[in-house]
Amino acid sequence: MNFFSPEENCPQTTEWLAFTGNVIDPLSEKRTDDAVQTALDDDRTRLLLIGEGKVCIRTDGVEPNALFKARDALALGMDLSEAILLGNGPDGPVLAVPMRPAEVPVANGIEVIELRSTYTNGLLKAEVVGALAQGAALLSWNNTHRFCGRCGGENNMRAGGYRRVCLSCGADHFPRTDPVAIMLAVKDDRCLMGRSARFAPGMYSCLAGFIEPGETIEAAVRRETFEESGIRIGTVRYIASQPWPFPFSLMIGCIAEAITDEIDPDTTELEDCRWFSRAEVRQMLDGTHPEGLRAATKGAIARHLIALWAEAE
Ligand SMILES: [Zn+2]
Repeated sequence: MNFFSPEENCPQTTEWLAFTGNVIDPLSEKRTDDAVQTALDDDRTRLLLIGEGKVCIRTDGVEPNALFKARDALALGMDLSEAILLGNGPDGPVLAVPMRPAEVPVANGIEVIELRSTYTNGLLKAEVVGALAQGAALLSWNNTHRFCGRCGGENNMRAGGYRRVCLSCGADHFPRTDPVAIMLAVKDDRCLMGRSARFAPGMYSCLAGFIEPGETIEAAVRRETFEESGIRIGTVRYIASQPWPFPFSLMIGCIAEAITDEIDPDTTELEDCRWFSRAEVRQMLDGTHPEGLRAATKGAIARHLIALWAEAE
C-alpha cells in the first residue's frame, strides 16, 4: 500500500483502539442547568466514579462493571454535588462523579483500578472505556477551571458540566481538548521509532507532540519529527484519532513520508531513536523479536499506526 497516494483508501481501524467506543449522546445543545439533578431523579441513570487517574469498578457481578446506581455510589461515600452529565447512553443517562480513591471502601467486590489499565486489561466493554474517556476529561476540566481565566472570579458549573460561568464577570468557559500529533515516519521499507526513558524496557513507539497555536496538523507532524529526530517530512497522511483522557487530549494519528535518512536525536526527550525494517517491526508486534524489543501497547493509536504500516505491503 502507498499511504501517500490520494487514490489509496487507508483503513482507519484495523484493531482495537482504546477510548474510541463511546456511544453516549452528549446532548450538548439541549442541556438545562438542572440536567444533573434531573438525571439523578431517573432510576435508569448510572454513574462512573473517576478521580486521580483511577476508576472504581465492581467485580461481584457476572462481569466487571464501572456503572453504579446512585444509591450504591452514595453508599460508597461519593459526593454527588459535583457530578457531571455525560449524556444519554443506550440504557439511560450517564453521570461522572469525582472520586477520591483513598476514601473508597475497597471490599466486597469493589475495586479501584488505574484508568490507564482499562485499555489493556480487557475488563470493561469498549463503550464503557469510551465513556470513561469522556468522563475523566470532563471531570479534569471542571476541576481545573474553578476560577475565571479572565478576572480570577469564581466559576460555577452550568449545563451539567459542559460549561462554567464566572460569577464576577459573566464570562462563559467551555471544555477544552488538547490536540496531539502522533506520527509514524516511514521511508522505503523502514519506519522511525523512538523510546523515552520512562517507557517499559525494550518498548519503542511513534514520535508525538502537542500541536502548537497557529499550527496545522501536518506542520506539527513535520516540526515534532524534525525536533525529536532530525528527520525531514514530506507528505503527511491522516489515519485515525483517539481520545486520550490524560487529562483531556486528542491523539491525531498520521503516517508521514520521511524525505531524509540521517537521524539526529533530541537526547533530552529520547533515549534512543532509529530506523526499523518492516520485518523487524513485525517481530516486535508479535513478540518474537530476538532482542525482546516491542512496539507500543495494544489499544494505543501508536500501535495501530505501526501495525497498519507493518502489515501493508
Ligand atoms: Zn470572570
